[in-house]
Amino acid sequence: MKNSILIINGLLLTMEQEMPLVEDGAIFIKDGIIVDCGTSREIAKRHGRVETVIDAESHIIMPGLVNCHTHLPMSMFRGLADDLPLDVWLNEHIFPAEAAMLNPDSVKKWALHSCMEMLLAGITTCCDGYFYEDQVAEAVMASGMRAVLGQGVIDFPAPGVPEPAKNIDVAEDFVRKWKSFSSTNKSYVQDAGHSRIQDAGYSRVVPSVFCHSPYTCSRETLIKAKEMAKRLGVLFQIHVAETREEMNMVRRINSSISGDESRDMSVVQYLDSAGILDDKTLLVHAVWINDADMEIIKSRSAKVAHCPESNMKLASGIAPAWKLVQENISVGLGTDGCASNNTHDLFSEMDMAAKLQKTALMDPCAMDARSVVEMATIGGARAIGLGHITGSIVPGKKADIIVVGLRKPHMVPVYNPWSTVVYGAKASDVRVVMVDGTILVKDGKFLNPDFHD
Ligand SMILES: [Zn+2]
Repeated sequence: MKNSILIINGLLLTMEQEMPLVEDGAIFIKDGIIVDCGTSREIAKRHGRVETVIDAESHIIMPGLVNCHTHLPMSMFRGLADDLPLDVWLNEHIFPAEAAMLNPDSVKKWALHSCMEMLLAGITTCCDGYFYEDQVAEAVMASGMRAVLGQGVIDFPAPGVPEPAKNIDVAEDFVRKWKSFSSTNKSYVQDAGHSRIQDAGYSRVVPSVFCHSPYTCSRETLIKAKEMAKRLGVLFQIHVAETREEMNMVRRINSSISGDESRDMSVVQYLDSAGILDDKTLLVHAVWINDADMEIIKSRSAKVAHCPESNMKLASGIAPAWKLVQENISVGLGTDGCASNNTHDLFSEMDMAAKLQKTALMDPCAMDARSVVEMATIGGARAIGLGHITGSIVPGKKADIIVVGLRKPHMVPVYNPWSTVVYGAKASDVRVVMVDGTILVKDGKFLNPDFHD
């Protein structure tokens, strides 16, 4: 049968509540969609004649990982400025380097580089916010990944947006353009003359709005950007409460806010007072939040991207991620950009996320392995608005799937597969990566000869 794939004989982690684990599992895929999954015997019986068979014996089959927060082109700054306080790192190193090095070509080149890094590490979907986002989108399209992409909004002259007054217009143009590409499909190929980009695949790019932070965007900018995101029905991403100092910075910048009540507002309360929080708002970091903030986040159904390694490296603090999970707030896992991590590796991030919460709470039961895998798959997909498309293995969803080897000594034996994934597996154990039913990585190597491993 044309365009059909059978993945068979693997330890299947669906990340669905009803059938989380199938020991001798298989998946049947047709035209990029998961059609059927279950035991190898029943799936092979029901779908015998297929175009491609992947034998996953001694491998885990699981959903592709979802990286909820990154800045793809920032891989060009990997290792440029490490071991510095966040304000020094950002203002004295990253912002000047961006001013000097960013242009459409460098953004596209390094965004593609990051996509390759992520695909090899089993990340099939990411959520990005940056500048020159058209070029980021072109790189994502070329790589074969799926992504939610936000054009950056900041109240300073920014790369590609020299006039801050136009920041929201530029972001709106980006959203409208990529929304129309996904509906009309062919126009972009003709406009840009890209013969290698096929018609299919525009649905892999989902546009969004990315306001950098409450301290780099005025209250007015935040309100306008959120209104635009609401009007166009897209995700609104923002760095929130990353550092302890952020509350004072927000207060200073927005001196128009007066009165005793506003003086004591937390960053989350401040954003909520501006109408920013709803179910299409992704709060990135959320390190310095209190119980009242969590109540607000929960009542607005806002989402959180937890980035433990970036928070640790910049000594920002420890987000109350386990508490958020227990409060049933939608939490995904993010690497953040490569300037503050320095890799796009969610296996390492999962391991760290579990151990950091245990240490912070002095509780080895906190942030168990299965909860962490959920954050890195279906939880992340839900947090960025793609829970109906990716993040778990169930008929009807897109075939975004990875196959992870279990033969290496550090992966043997397997008592609890979620523990194996979180505490044992490394990014280099990923053998097969599929997005939209297209096999991009096989035997740990790219099938596209233009991509390097
Ligand atoms: Zn970030």
